[in-house]
Amino acid sequence: MAFPQAFLDELIVRNPIEDVVGQYVQLKRSGANYFGLCPFHGEKTPSFSVAPNKQMYYCFGCHKGGSVINFIMEIESLSYPDAVRFLAQRVNLEVPDDRENQSQYREQERLWDLCRDAARYFHEMLKSDAGQTARAYLLRRGLDWNTVARFGIGFAPEGWRNLADAMEQKGYTRAELLAADLAVSKEKNGRASFYDKFRNRVIFPLIDIRGNVVGFAGRTLDPDGKPKYINSGETLIFRKRKFLYAMNLVKKSRQGRIILCEGPLDVIACHQYGFDCAVASQGTALTEEQVNIISKYVDQVVLTYDSDQAGQNATQRAISMFEKAGVKVKILRLYDAKDPDEFLHRFGADPFAVLLQGSENQADYRLLTLQSQYDLTVDEQRVEFSQKAAELISTFSNSVEREIYADRAAKSAGISKEAMLVEVGKAYKKRQYREKRQKEKRDLSPATAIQPKSREIRYSNIRSARAEESVLAQSVIEPALLDRIGDLTGAEFSSPLLGRAFDALCSRHRAGLTVSIAVLEGFTQEEMAHLSGICQGVDRVAGETAFQDCIDIIREEHRKAGQTNSETDLLALQEQLKSKKGYRGQ
Ligand SMILES: [Zn+2]
Repeated sequence: MAFPQAFLDELIVRNPIEDVVGQYVQLKRSGANYFGLCPFHGEKTPSFSVAPNKQMYYCFGCHKGGSVINFIMEIESLSYPDAVRFLAQRVNLEVPDDRENQSQYREQERLWDLCRDAARYFHEMLKSDAGQTARAYLLRRGLDWNTVARFGIGFAPEGWRNLADAMEQKGYTRAELLAADLAVSKEKNGRASFYDKFRNRVIFPLIDIRGNVVGFAGRTLDPDGKPKYINSGETLIFRKRKFLYAMNLVKKSRQGRIILCEGPLDVIACHQYGFDCAVASQGTALTEEQVNIISKYVDQVVLTYDSDQAGQNATQRAISMFEKAGVKVKILRLYDAKDPDEFLHRFGADPFAVLLQGSENQADYRLLTLQSQYDLTVDEQRVEFSQKAAELISTFSNSVEREIYADRAAKSAGISKEAMLVEVGKAYKKRQYREKRQKEKRDLSPATAIQPKSREIRYSNIRSARAEESVLAQSVIEPALLDRIGDLTGAEFSSPLLGRAFDALCSRHRAGLTVSIAVLEGFTQEEMAHLSGICQGVDRVAGETAFQDCIDIIREEHRKAGQTNSETDLLALQEQLKSKKGYRGQ
């Protein structure tokens, strides 16, 4: 996966991190660094930092960080080679031919082309005579032709090999049709068959955030046809967990929120009626990846799941996922209609806008859900409801909000508002006490504080790891310090990750290249984030003596580890010998 080092250096120099990040995040200068609101987690005060001199970014809140390449990978959801291409294109830099990257990229490009051509084919079929029933169906569902064209809706005719034949004629292979999950290959009784996956269905192309057709959803035209929808499976270009239907259109919306629907027809109806901020997760329950994508664009989401039990469960789940990502959730309750599609076609845009404005907020929704679990005509249940409600209300950070909902809950429970507020106060204190205790516990064990989050890169020796971190951070600020390391190598580091980074920096220093974490290759997103966290915390050189002390600590700890290893080896050997038959000891 290697690009030539000189090319990567040039790429980093020509894409100053503060410029690139500045296109996504409003940055304010403060000393040598810039600060802004983190695009990867919701926050009100900036903890996201960009250091132009180190060419790195780091968030002190969610601990994401790395080089300009890592930033683009994260924010544009791209793979490493694609992020490199993205940045090269940004500054008109030619990407050197690299066989391994290229071949996977070429394969992807072929599948994008194939899916685009298939979408065109389906759309032509919809316009043709064969597409009459499909057109009638769409009309019946209230879609106008503009909408049909905007979403590229199509039709897969009856028959076994329509698409496959058309695409083979265009030069695509069967293997490619299978790789794009457009065809099915089966063997039965020794006879192989190969046929179209989508037959006699209305086709909704699935277009990713960058505008590539990556898959399809097909809805049956047969009223008794099952399943109602079939979707493309996972392919090289289609990752369900990361996909949101219509996100390519929504990312241009100026409505400041996203409406999350259940299926493509709901999304399409919203867009047709002017609500150009509707998306749907496609064929999966909401995933963390999808929540992250949404949280990059808006800080408010409106849920429109069905009001049945499954929908209620999905809503609860979504609320807590969005909450974690710092996105505010509103629930859209559609009375007299089961989904936005039906509502919009029956009542139009204005009532929908009114509902959207007044959509109950999460607090209200949660209180109602809680209430529905109790029979409030029974005294014991009223008491229990009051306590649970107080606990819930005590989590609201705003005191006005607490007051309003305490009042509401009190009315439902048939008690006075004052009594309810007393309960809320108690619950609030209890929680604060618990949180304080937890914090004290954490502070008492400082070792965990500097541990990397991920288990794979955990430190085994905190004393040495601290020294190793310091050596790395100092070398990045003052590469000349690397002349003073003697014959120290990364192999002596207790942390394999830090050792690897150290070796990479040393070899760059010896080759006369810039000594920077940002240009290193072959580290995962997580590893890069951890390394940039280490560097971002340090802005000044601690001095040669301090540097030397760190080196001494690393060597000392390494020696100790070597001894314990050989001691344990010896013990293990003795144990082994003892257990052998015929061994008599000394
Ligand atoms: Zn963050």
